[in-house]
Amino acid sequence: MNYYSLNKKAPSTSFKNAVIKGLAPDKGLYFPELISPLPKAFFNDIDNLSHSEIAFEAIKQFVSSDIPEDILKNIINETLSFDFPIVELNKNISTLELFHGPTMAFKDVGARFMAQCLGYFNQNNSNDVTVLVATSGDTGAAVANGFLGVKGVNVVILYPSGKVSDIQEKQLTTLGQNISALEVNGTFDDCQAMVKTAFLDDNLTSKMQLTSANSINVARWLPQLFYFMFAYKKLHNKYKDIVFSVPSGNFGNVCAGIMAQQLGLPIKHFIASNNENNVVTEYLTTQLYNPKPSVQTISNAMDVGDPSNFIRIQEIYKNKFETLKDNLSSFSFSDNETKAAMLEIYTNHNYIADPHGAVGYLGCKAYLEKNPNAHCVFLETAHPTKFLDVVEDVIKTKQALPQQIQSVMGKIKLATTISNYEEFKEYLLE
Ligand SMILES: *Cc1c(COP(=O)(O)O)cnc(C)c1O
Repeated sequence: MNYYSLNKKAPSTSFKNAVIKGLAPDKGLYFPELISPLPKAFFNDIDNLSHSEIAFEAIKQFVSSDIPEDILKNIINETLSFDFPIVELNKNISTLELFHGPTMAFKDVGARFMAQCLGYFNQNNSNDVTVLVATSGDTGAAVANGFLGVKGVNVVILYPSGKVSDIQEKQLTTLGQNISALEVNGTFDDCQAMVKTAFLDDNLTSKMQLTSANSINVARWLPQLFYFMFAYKKLHNKYKDIVFSVPSGNFGNVCAGIMAQQLGLPIKHFIASNNENNVVTEYLTTQLYNPKPSVQTISNAMDVGDPSNFIRIQEIYKNKFETLKDNLSSFSFSDNETKAAMLEIYTNHNYIADPHGAVGYLGCKAYLEKNPNAHCVFLETAHPTKFLDVVEDVIKTKQALPQQIQSVMGKIKLATTISNYEEFKEYLLE
């Protein structure tokens, strides 16, 4: 099974090549040529399957023979070595906690899977692959952690100086080995611009193999479909109409959920919950897609003005607006509404949500108004202590730091400061 470029001006290619390249030569995103639904028996029998067995059946057609089955099974076992609990708030709303991995955000799943695939593909290659990541926090941490110690792969993380939380900075800068951090005098947009310039710099790309580890990469995007299946396994005997509300930024996570549905997972509907960066909410209302510069919010991992994966969702629905609208709703919420929701969840359900999860909760409530019999699962995409300032300010309660976070706090920061592209390039060529 091959992947084609959504820009349709590049040849189709293998899983291996799509993972190594990240983006197609025509700058399009890769998309699988075929999505074959899993047999009905798989879903009927899901109660008897382990997480690893579910994941293996779901992903193997997308990896095809590029990775031998026993190695793919090992990669999956490694990727999924933590828990994915469901917490039921009431008969209509549950949350799927995706923050039990090493960096306490859902991106651990995709980053760990991609790291091991790339490590496998590059094991006998004398030239290292260099992964470039611009981050506003969570992506860099998950990628750094996932790639730590992977042979044949070097990771260079660019983050904006003074604009990531202390916890996130520690997660990015204290690992060492094959992970380097560049502290950029500038904004996240400056970091992203430097990475984009590097990919287009022939002088640089002729000297080194560069790739990207954000959700445009198929090996980071697709494994995110696993946990929709795990949630279904836990809930399907109790609830009939299961819907998911996904706090969305680049729309990789919700698009992975829709892929699970394409594989036959009986999900009734998806909700893309947005903060005030609401291009898609507006699109579903007006049918006009107008990318805008991002605005800063308290759910900052979703501050995206032009979501890169939305084009994949359009492809799944063959660019038919009505089909897309039947399967996906989108709502947008302000910071004040998000804080009120965090307080409501804490007061009424004795549960602490982070700002991203709270936006997902609001999406559930909005959907349930017109669909009172559904059971809505919102994704808790990060642990609340990753957003300590906001959380403690809203619920007026001190939070204990989990072990994963405590363990990095005492470590020493190692970062190189850069201010412009020339300095970045010089660093890479050294
Ligand atoms: C990245 C991220 C999101 C957004 O996910 P997308 O796949 O980009 O839509 C939501 N919440 C948290 C905590 C994140 O780190």
